[in-house]
Amino acid sequence: MNRNFTLLVASVFAVGALTNCQSTTEAPAPVAETIFYGDTSVRADLFDDPHSYSEEESKVVHLNWDAVVDFEREVITATATWTLDEQHGSEVIFDIKDLNISKVTLDGQEPVWDLEYDDELLGSALVVYDLGPDSKEVAITYETSAESEALQWYPAELTQGKRMPFLFTQSQAILARTWVPCQDRPGVRFTYDAKVTVPKGMLALMSASNPTRKSEDGVYEFSMLQPIPSYLLALGSGDLAFIELGERSGVYAEPEMVRNAAFEFSQTEDMISRAEYLYGPYYWGRYDMLVLPPSFPFGGMENPRLTFLTPTVIVGDMSLTSLIAHELAHSWSGNLVTNATWNDFWLNEGFTVYFEMRIMDAVYGPDFADMLEALSYDDLQRELAVMLEEDPDATRLKQNLEGRNPDDAVTAIAYDKGFHFLKLCEQTVGRERWDAFLKRYFDKYKFKTRVTEEFLQELAGLMTQEEWNAVGVEEWVYGKGLPANCPFPASNRFYIVDEAVKMLLGVSPEDPDAKSMVYLEQDVTIRWTTHEWLRYIRALEAGGATVGHYRLADANYGFTGSPNPEIVAAWYTAILKTDFEGFDPKVYEEKVESFLTTVGRRKFIVPMYASMLEGDEKRQVWAKEIYAKARPSYHPLSQQTLDQLFAEHEQGL
Ligand SMILES: [Zn+2]
Repeated sequence: MNRNFTLLVASVFAVGALTNCQSTTEAPAPVAETIFYGDTSVRADLFDDPHSYSEEESKVVHLNWDAVVDFEREVITATATWTLDEQHGSEVIFDIKDLNISKVTLDGQEPVWDLEYDDELLGSALVVYDLGPDSKEVAITYETSAESEALQWYPAELTQGKRMPFLFTQSQAILARTWVPCQDRPGVRFTYDAKVTVPKGMLALMSASNPTRKSEDGVYEFSMLQPIPSYLLALGSGDLAFIELGERSGVYAEPEMVRNAAFEFSQTEDMISRAEYLYGPYYWGRYDMLVLPPSFPFGGMENPRLTFLTPTVIVGDMSLTSLIAHELAHSWSGNLVTNATWNDFWLNEGFTVYFEMRIMDAVYGPDFADMLEALSYDDLQRELAVMLEEDPDATRLKQNLEGRNPDDAVTAIAYDKGFHFLKLCEQTVGRERWDAFLKRYFDKYKFKTRVTEEFLQELAGLMTQEEWNAVGVEEWVYGKGLPANCPFPASNRFYIVDEAVKMLLGVSPEDPDAKSMVYLEQDVTIRWTTHEWLRYIRALEAGGATVGHYRLADANYGFTGSPNPEIVAAWYTAILKTDFEGFDPKVYEEKVESFLTTVGRRKFIVPMYASMLEGDEKRQVWAKEIYAKARPSYHPLSQQTLDQLFAEHEQGL
């Protein structure tokens, strides 16, 4: 372990010792024995990354990537040339998975190198030996394989224009190693430049400086001057057009979609300014967005300079742009100040959700942000109910993911519990002090990584003993479940929705006048956004709606035919649990199948399949049939989640 790290741990403990001293008036640092997993030897491991073979002694500082993308064979052939940190040991280790290595050189010479381990989750360690003090560069020539999980190859037929295929990468959390041999952990940052060749007529884009139009020969050059961790390496290529949105922002999408995307995201520039006003300068130059095919498993991915986005937020009324606020916020929390290991994932996501809410508050007003907070609280409650039964340890903010896929930590805990903790901190110390603190924090640790304990140390410097105790910091961070002092978000706009749902649930669906009795006039609903409708559907479910109530709601508001994927996904998820009585099952089956075979966003499809598996045997067989058909078009990350869902169902879990 690196000496600096050892010192840091020691200083954490030194401050921690004060907590036992009665006379101290300062806020304590959060190092109570029992909280740190109770074992002092584990403390040193706080900074160890259980998901990478690479070592502190020999880190890389720069990547030169020269690659050819072959859409016919669906492989990338490349040479990754890594510049070593001047201070390095006698060997250097790279993570690789599902790559075919053909050549390794050390400053142009053939060194001794070896592949060690073959772990299902982590892949292998490529070890290059006999480094001298003057060794500078390791070049690795390789080809990706059909198993390279970060790559999703999308045939032309499945794109909007159906003219050219599409490729995009998803490196987070530990998939960068499946397309570039690298030190695949957030604790290592590097700059990069790249030369990428794609078929003529296609545009290539990276998480770097980007072209805005296609080149004659299909060759593109990129450079990323700010140091990033490997999980932010990204590449996208397809038949793409660009529209400028503002001085430093723009959107790339297929020509068929790019105008709609530009309209939907037209407030991006405003969001950047508001974010800067809150928490300091935007350090990445441009903020562009790339709209991906609908199979993208996430809402968005905060690849620096080029956020990757699902097309399912392009709904025509800008109501889902909190996603842009979220990805933009990552330009500070995550990309600028990064979780040092995936155990500290909440530092990335909890802060980002908090920041997202503040941007939405600034751009759309507190009423709008209140709705988002209430939805976040709902998500958290629903996931907690399941998690506390199945895996209570996973409900701690600070995770212990050794031996587990870091993707397992992508839950409401990191995002929503993290958010509510920070919100409580804000409420406790007051917004003014809190904002000044966060601004300073982002500035002080820009382009650095942090573990949870380092953040808590900063927090201890902000809070008085009284405030620290009032929040109950340790319980929030290391305890299971949700502390009782979690702020309960109240939303005026949702209050109206809840009343409307109560009214609907209060009637008998068999009453011939029921439909008109519960109909809300357009002047009430005209201003409802996606969020209100989501709340409406969820409140129906929570209120124990019968299939008759659902039928009434659908007759009045046409959920089934909604063009908004967020609404239909919530609607199907609810309806699929019922027996469909009164709905035309043929229509439903067609619509559900068509949705599940085109959209791959995990947040939508997983609950839908789960609802189907809750149904009778016929419905379960149907779910399996659709999944078999749709699976090839899903991203490997969605496949993984769903494979697990079906396997657990099979085992009767
Ligand atoms: Zn995020």
